[in-house]
Amino acid sequence: MGQGSELKITEPRIPRSVRCPHCGLRQPFRKQCQYWRTVRAPDPQHPVLWRVPLVHAKCRNPACPHRSFALPIPGVARYQRATSQLIQAGGVGLVADNTTLGRMATRFARSFNTTGSKSALDRWKHRVARQYDFPTILRRLGISGALCLDEYKPRRSGRYEQLAGDAKTMRLLYLDPVPEFYGRGVTAAFCHQLAGWGLQPTCVIFDLLTTFPKVVARVWPEAHQQFDHFHVRPWLWHYLRNALIPFRKSLRGPRWERHWEELWELKWGVLKPMDRWTFKERLLIPEMMEIYAGTVVEQVLLFKEALWDLFDDSQSKAEAYAKREALAREAWWRPSWHLTKCMECLLSESSTGWSPTWSSPRSPAVGSRKR
Ligand SMILES: [Zn+2]
Repeated sequence: MGQGSELKITEPRIPRSVRCPHCGLRQPFRKQCQYWRTVRAPDPQHPVLWRVPLVHAKCRNPACPHRSFALPIPGVARYQRATSQLIQAGGVGLVADNTTLGRMATRFARSFNTTGSKSALDRWKHRVARQYDFPTILRRLGISGALCLDEYKPRRSGRYEQLAGDAKTMRLLYLDPVPEFYGRGVTAAFCHQLAGWGLQPTCVIFDLLTTFPKVVARVWPEAHQQFDHFHVRPWLWHYLRNALIPFRKSLRGPRWERHWEELWELKWGVLKPMDRWTFKERLLIPEMMEIYAGTVVEQVLLFKEALWDLFDDSQSKAEAYAKREALAREAWWRPSWHLTKCMECLLSESSTGWSPTWSSPRSPAVGSRKR
């Protein structure tokens, strides 16, 4: 809860007679215990912390399996599974906090003392969402300007879905299943739909799928285009790894037998950034580098460090560009065909007007798991 939130206190209202929800027996109230609980009041506009009393009453029925039960909290009823306030709180929590159904269900169980299951929350969300059209929802969500486009195939369904997300807030904005038989126009139709709803991104991020640049240039000509680095990196790593393989094959004879296995075992370590090396890798790789000084193994290691630095540690676009230019000017990687391909891949944007990527605007959900 942020600053400036009010505190609202509800006085306990104890009824004369109560009904046990477990056995159904109506009986005079006998207090078992009472404590206070702070919950988040379900009002999105005015954040209010709500102190509510939680009173437990004794059940005097000897046949009852429970010895006590909690009285319903005024306004947040426990035994009534879905009060309108609760439904509203569920929807607001999911949208305002951009959280998952599972976390929301846990929060409900904790602070509202109720059982809002994941599927119930999902149903409530849909019921609320159905009252609005997409342009209204998109407007209310507020878009940072960095739009992320991708497609993915959920494991359970056999077909692709196109999705649009906000790269900065990591929020999914719109998701649309691709028709069973689809042609080239699908991506264009998706973008036109978003544009028609008033979505005007300043930057669009996508994977290396060939249709995106053309379509985005047509729909949002002003928008800056950027490749998603989760899709660019595998290509670079592919070249780096392929640079190692033929070198390893060229090591023949009994002298190399032990190193052969070692190099294979440590190939992923060589490609990992140094500060993420395991203890074993930190021990073995520097030793290994003495053996391979001046070979492609050393070059791959150096090139990879330069790439991690460019992608992960650049604070601005200018800095990332400067690092790329500096790397391009150097000569040590040129003898290797694979490293040259890597550099071409990095520089390919200069001829087409696309820009390189680095880590700050990340693609939501789908991309971030690939790390
Ligand atoms: Zn009872």
